[in-house]
Amino acid sequence: MTDRYAVIGHPVEHSRSPAIHAAFARQTGQDIEYLKLLAPLDGFVAAAEAFRTSGGRGMNVTLPFKEEAFAYAGGHSERARSAGAVNTLRFDGDRVFGDNTDGAGLVRDIRDNLGVPLRDKALLLLGAGGAARGAIRPLLDQGPASLTLANRRPERALALALHFDAGLAACGFAELAGRRFDIVINATAASLEGEAPALPAGIYAPAALAYDMMYAKAPTPFLAAALAQGARTADGLGMLLEQAAESFLLWRGVRPDTRPLLAALRASLA
Ligand code: NDP
Repeated sequence: MTDRYAVIGHPVEHSRSPAIHAAFARQTGQDIEYLKLLAPLDGFVAAAEAFRTSGGRGMNVTLPFKEEAFAYAGGHSERARSAGAVNTLRFDGDRVFGDNTDGAGLVRDIRDNLGVPLRDKALLLLGAGGAARGAIRPLLDQGPASLTLANRRPERALALALHFDAGLAACGFAELAGRRFDIVINATAASLEGEAPALPAGIYAPAALAYDMMYAKAPTPFLAAALAQGARTADGLGMLLEQAAESFLLWRGVRPDTRPLLAALRASLA
């Protein structure tokens, strides 16, 4: 029987996950069906349970349900626990296992696809929401020289740094003036609003990488500003693909080869 999976969110119509997982399934010869599931804002658990009890094997979880999915899962991976959020659910009979593959997807994209090692680098992570929180442990696991958290509201970056208890520096954007970073990751929602975080000029070290978790056909305002300062730039399309591959691995025990799929995914952007 064909195993069923779904992406659950609100909204979910825009999701590229069904196309990505269909491509993974074709490539690896796995027999799966993958649907979009729109859950009411107050109906995540009921929708997830209905899918599970009807034979569903797993789900990807997107906005705004990642924290609810964490609470729903009975067991968690270490990376889901450190993120406090779940983007991947696996159903094993009555057991609901929660994982978070976003941070691993980010690291694989930067390190393997873009060929930029994170070890011994000065990293700057912008934002203090769910995406930033999920990225911290996987970034630290790469052994960077330093990881600085900066957020529009500095107190939220500070709270995040204290939560991780790993000696992370935290500040507002203005306090970055005079500092230099090798890799700057935008995990704010500014790009969604057509804005760039208000960063001081000169934060990019020579040959620095500016990475925006958001992806779009044209460079985001953050990436456009980084390009103007001579930084190398990349958006989060590769991260999207890599977090999906990590979910597929959790479900099917086989890792798809993402390289041949990135160009087609990029071409499909409106
Ligand atoms: P949240 O809503 O949880 O966090 C929003 C963050 O953005 C806060 O730190 C907020 O700062 C900051 N922010 C919002 N607007 C601005 C602005 N105009 N200038 C500066 N900072 C701003 O969002 P998420 O963490 O869930 O998502 C963040 C981004 O990551 C989104 O663009 C999302 O699309 C992307 N993402 C990409 C993934 C991928 O696979 N490529 C996966 C997951 C997320 P403050 O605290 O001061 O309000």
